[in-house]
Order: sequence, then C-alpha cells, then structure tokens
Amino acid sequence: MSRIENIAVIAHDNRKRDMLAWIVRHHARLTGATLMATGTTGRLIEEETGLSVERYASGPLGGDQQIGARIAEGKVDMLIFFWDPLEPLPHDPDVKALLRLATLWNLPTATNEATADMLLTSPMFDDYVPNRPDFGSYTERKI
Ligand code: PGA
Repeated sequence: MSRIENIAVIAHDNRKRDMLAWIVRHHARLTGATLMATGTTGRLIEEETGLSVERYASGPLGGDQQIGARIAEGKVDMLIFFWDPLEPLPHDPDVKALLRLATLWNLPTATNEATADMLLTSPMFDDYVPNRPDFGSYTERKI
C-alpha cells in the first residue's frame, strides 16, 4: 500500500484533455488513491473515467485555494497540476500560491505529463515517505 494516498489533480481548460488521458493511462494506480480536484476537473474525471473524486470549487472560484489549504493541513501527498503556460487567467495569483505551498511543504509535484508519468511510475512510489518540513523554528521565532 503506497503512502501516497491523497493525490490532488487540477487542469486548466486547455490542459483538461491531456489530464484525462493521463488519468486513463494510470487508472490502475489511481484507483487505490483518494483523488481530490477542482470542480470542473473533478467532474470530468468522474464522468469520463468512473473514478470518484473529492471535488472542491472550480479553480477560478476558489478551488485552488481550497486545495492549498488542504496542503497546509497535511492532507495532500502529491499534486498533479497541468496549468496553462500559454494563457493568462483571472486566478493566476491563486495558481502561484498553490505552487508555492506545494514547494513549501515538499510535495511531489508535476506540472506536465512527462513529470506526472515519472512520478506515478517511479519505483519509489510504493515506499516513499514524504518528509514534511518542520517549521518550528520559524513559528517560534523572536520578533
Ligand atoms: P476547474 O479549475 O477544474 O474548476 O476548471 C481549474 C483551475 O482553473 O484552477
């Protein structure tokens, strides 16, 4: 049983077809995980792959921030985020904030198919224990 249990998946509109193809490609491995997704991404995954998804608000309506909050709570083990590098979006600050939290909390993160394929097929996938950083010295700092 993998320690990577909770996988957040998000795709911008121009990347949703690629995300769905990626999900289908890795269906067997993803069946054992809890998937969480922004609203439209999650709906399409459910409709087109049959996998069940914990759905949040649509990204531009706050879904990226909701998933960011789950990361801060330690409830996400991996982030697959196919963001669109060719189009500015109204919620670009939320996209940046989500990627910042994924980096801060040392999440395995993929923003394209090549990296997402490698993460899911890594020999480390089954045994990897992510190191959750300890920010104790930061939170207890003297001001
Ligand atoms: P959506 O949101 O899955 O609701 O389309 C994705 C995003 O734009 O962040």
